[in-house]
Amino acid sequence: MANESNIFQELISHCKEYGYIFQSSELYDGLSAVYDYGQNGAQLKKNIRDQWWKSMTQLHDNIVGIDAAIFMHPTTWKASGHVDNFSDPMIDNKDSNKRYRVDHLIEGFAEEQKAIGNEQLANDVLSAMDNLLAKNDFAGLKQLIEDNKIKCAISKTANWTEVREFNLMFSTQIGSVAEESDTIYLRPETAQGIFVNFLNVQKTGRMKIPFGIAQTGKAFRNEIVARQFIFRMREFEQMEMQFFVRPGTQMEWYNFWKEERKKWHESMGIPAEKLRFHDHVKLAHYADAALDIEFEFPFGWKELEGIHSRTDFDLKQHQEYSKKKIQYFDNDLNPEGKPFGNYIPYVVETSVGLDRLVLTILSLAYANEKWTKEDGTEDSRVVLRIPAKIAPTKLAILPLVKKDGLPEIARELMEDCKQSFQCFYEEKDAIGKRYRRMDAIGTPFCVTIDHQSKEDNMVTLRYRDTMVQERIPIAEVKKRVLEKIS
Ligand code: ATP
Repeated sequence: MANESNIFQELISHCKEYGYIFQSSELYDGLSAVYDYGQNGAQLKKNIRDQWWKSMTQLHDNIVGIDAAIFMHPTTWKASGHVDNFSDPMIDNKDSNKRYRVDHLIEGFAEEQKAIGNEQLANDVLSAMDNLLAKNDFAGLKQLIEDNKIKCAISKTANWTEVREFNLMFSTQIGSVAEESDTIYLRPETAQGIFVNFLNVQKTGRMKIPFGIAQTGKAFRNEIVARQFIFRMREFEQMEMQFFVRPGTQMEWYNFWKEERKKWHESMGIPAEKLRFHDHVKLAHYADAALDIEFEFPFGWKELEGIHSRTDFDLKQHQEYSKKKIQYFDNDLNPEGKPFGNYIPYVVETSVGLDRLVLTILSLAYANEKWTKEDGTEDSRVVLRIPAKIAPTKLAILPLVKKDGLPEIARELMEDCKQSFQCFYEEKDAIGKRYRRMDAIGTPFCVTIDHQSKEDNMVTLRYRDTMVQERIPIAEVKKRVLEKIS
């Protein structure tokens, strides 16, 4: 574990050093749990987002994408239950004044117990916690913490306050709304923008059930426990899809999306053994089934994506609060030969954090490699083995020297290739050094133009993962790279 946490720290430093991820407002000593993506991080994130968007909208002819605003009418969040229910049970340590999410505190304790071989105790504590959370039994949760003498990591004492709820939504003021409702919220999830547009999209797109609406965008949560880098942030990006189905068929679709989403993660290069399903014991107020797709992050198994069967809860609530009918007329015939008629559709949701996916991809990609060369000397490199199709830069174009007409040939190749994929041109420093820099930012292919190229129009193509180099005609470079990234 110590080693894994070192690697995680190395990854965080690497992300900063190579233009992937910076602490937000670092100039002013940073803003906690908020991060900025640099030139490479932003491109990686966009590539992952594009893959998701394509897999949802282009590859499913019954799913369309929208882009709803972050600000929504405040009643949205009353209807969705977020004003009353979007809170986590928290507990404060009176000596350190540190606030903990109760489930995280207890899970941390269980992890420690497991590590020292007390598997049974860990499991008992976790299942007691699940039961108490399901009943919203705060006194019971505090008792569980006290009975197990769970201590604060900072003060090392068990001097706790009562367990209290803490709403996670950020609020702000908007100018033109009537006085009593001028407080609006920064959306804590993108899903509600889909629900309130259900009729707009269904009618204008003449969508027939079952169909889905997908959306990506920023969400905001005033997370108390803000750690683990971009795993848990206060401003983050979600990629959500709400799939509207006929009531009674939701479990079928829930199982379909569960498998479909896991397959998609695998298609992004995540090994199957690093993914697992975790069924929820405590269901949210709107769900009749829910699970997480978990990934084995460097700090343990954690949620990457949620699959939720949300019933007709959201549409029903919006119908009630807006006093407008939100129904669908299904003219397919039921077993009695009559149309299914009017109903409020049921919903299966897939909800993945884009930032968590970036972290997943980076933690799989990062490798600090050392090996012995044929002459017996040691060599090493730090490499990001990001799958070629989502790597920020696909091809580095490197003239061996800055003269003798080599830059001209390189520039010509660059002009041709950059129409099709991201390229990077560099003529400074020794070639070995340039290769290492490209390894460090995860560029899967480098092409070197040398003096020989002027004679025979051949160049050296170098592969990041194997470091193998081969001589190919310059006219084939673009085709080769396109084959590998498609
Ligand atoms: P957690 O239990 O980790 O707080 P959650 O169950 O509250 O997550 P959901 O409400 O299901 O999360 O949100 C869907 C997805 O959005 C999550 O699977 C996760 O990938 C992402 N997500 C949620 N909160 C954050 C956050 N604070 N920072 C980054 N990503 C987040």
